[in-house]
Amino acid sequence: MSEAAYIPASGLSGKLQRLSARTFARAPLRIKLARPLVSFTFDDFPRSAATTGAALLEARGWAGTYFAAGGFKDQTTHHGAMFDIEDLNRLTANGHEIACHSFSHLDASSSRDSRFLEDVERNAEFFTDAGLDAAQTFAFPYGEATAGLKRALIKRYGALRGVRPGVNRGTADRALLKAVPLDGGLAGLQRAVDAVRDAAREPGWLIFYGHDVQDLPTTWGCTPEFLAAVVEAVEAVNADVLPMNQALARIEGGAA
Ligand SMILES: [Zn+2]
Repeated sequence: MSEAAYIPASGLSGKLQRLSARTFARAPLRIKLARPLVSFTFDDFPRSAATTGAALLEARGWAGTYFAAGGFKDQTTHHGAMFDIEDLNRLTANGHEIACHSFSHLDASSSRDSRFLEDVERNAEFFTDAGLDAAQTFAFPYGEATAGLKRALIKRYGALRGVRPGVNRGTADRALLKAVPLDGGLAGLQRAVDAVRDAAREPGWLIFYGHDVQDLPTTWGCTPEFLAAVVEAVEAVNADVLPMNQALARIEGGAA
């Protein structure tokens, strides 16, 4: 697996593809909440998210969702050391959700759907081998989806997450849920805190996604202070904080 950061297709074809993925194969999820609901998720995932990141959540009695790409286990990437089996076991024991992010972290916009689905299957085998329960939710690497994959994967997972920012409310698309990044330095922190206020003003499901949590974060990561500030903002609006699978069950149960 390459250690270099990978940037998905940009330009007009990338834009059209993303528009098409957003527009088609929607799976409506009616969200009606009396209080804001927040999920903290981490992608890939780096050890720092499983240690420093998890500790910040656990200190509040909260748990997050960790989107594991099996191919990253025991690897070192631009995010630093990636998760190992002990991280998976400890996170599970502490009530976090381990969810699916494909095995090889494929870009759906440049892979055939059949190849992508094989890779998802490979990650399911990785979960079995690691002694994990089958994943209940899925995040598209780079947030890149296709209509065909949305249709196929929503049969298998309760929810699929992308990276388009915003609060999920009203009739959301459970096959491509919005998520706000935990990156971008001070401007990114302001965007994250604004999202919390937005979710509180008109209660919705706010999903954050991050990567590394370390003093010198990558472009896709944040510092422990950044995450602590977001946690504080979430606490200040008295939001419920649940891993994605539990948040989904809450929404489907209609209990606010
Ligand atoms: Zn990823």
